[in-house]
Amino acid sequence: MGAFTKIILISVVVAFLASRWTAHRFDAESLRGAKVLVTGSSKGIGEQMAYHYARFGAKIVITGRREKALKQVAEECLSLGAQKAFYIAADMSNESDTDRVVDFALEKLGGLDYLILNHIGSSRFDMWDGDVEHTRWLMKVNFFSYIQMAWKALASLEQSEGSLVVVSSLAGKMPSPLTAPYTATKCALNGFFGSLRHELAMKKSNVSISVCTLGLIDTETAMSKVRGVINMPANPATDAALNIIITGATRQPELFYPWFTYILTLIQNLFPSLTDYIIQSSYNYTPNTITKT
Ligand code: NAP
Repeated sequence: MGAFTKIILISVVVAFLASRWTAHRFDAESLRGAKVLVTGSSKGIGEQMAYHYARFGAKIVITGRREKALKQVAEECLSLGAQKAFYIAADMSNESDTDRVVDFALEKLGGLDYLILNHIGSSRFDMWDGDVEHTRWLMKVNFFSYIQMAWKALASLEQSEGSLVVVSSLAGKMPSPLTAPYTATKCALNGFFGSLRHELAMKKSNVSISVCTLGLIDTETAMSKVRGVINMPANPATDAALNIIITGATRQPELFYPWFTYILTLIQNLFPSLTDYIIQSSYNYTPNTITKT
């Protein structure tokens, strides 16, 4: 192993250990009675977060567009131990719905300790075809609704010394093919909330912002898209959900889940051409064959 590689590896290990050492310890009891709003929680990772918060005895509000699914998730939360579980059906492409969700949570819970922004609109897994209208709509759902909700909840989070958690993606750090509009929304989230974190720190705010970089997770939405197109190990949604919750509760600025997503971003910065080659060759793509939505 060359001296340069050794230095890089040692630096990564030291940085990792330092971040662990300085991180707050996770205290599950701190979530008992916590007031939590989790968006996009009718299925997938958001649903799993709702169940974990329920087991920790939190008071939660869950959202999505499908009322029937939300009702079932809320009932399950109560049976798992949630102190309170409310649901509200809302479409995050609609600005008034976005505001309505935060108002509902503030009223039902009497404030917020955690705002977990997790929902995403449906997007195609295909080559960019010039559909600007879809990208504009996806930016509304995946980005503009996040910043609108964050702003509306900020005063309450300030009062509770609370936490804002943004669920992002490896795509936001390391663009990959067939997801250009989705990737754009995640890059926008990383940039916006990275900048806002500086501003809150400079204002001596007591609100923490955690941005979560996730690799492939085994939700139905993700697996139905990548199946047959890319071979990559998927990680369990329930584990991803728990890691996101711990990251918020311990007020860490970033989560990389699974851990090797962090290494991938480092490799990309060090060897961009090699990384591009590996990414492009790992897709089973023949022109005009992928039309999954
Ligand atoms: P998912 O299973 O598709 O769940 C998406 C959630 O968003 C659902 O609860 C859905 O509820 C809601 N939703 C969809 N469109 C909406 C709209 N227009 N307005 C309001 N709510 C809407 O997604 P997931 O795979 O769990 O992903 C969750 C988060 O993890 C996302 O931020 C995603 O980018 C991130 N992530 C996931 C992966 C992965 O591999 N799964 C990888 C990296 C990052 P309704 O259908 O009821 O509206």
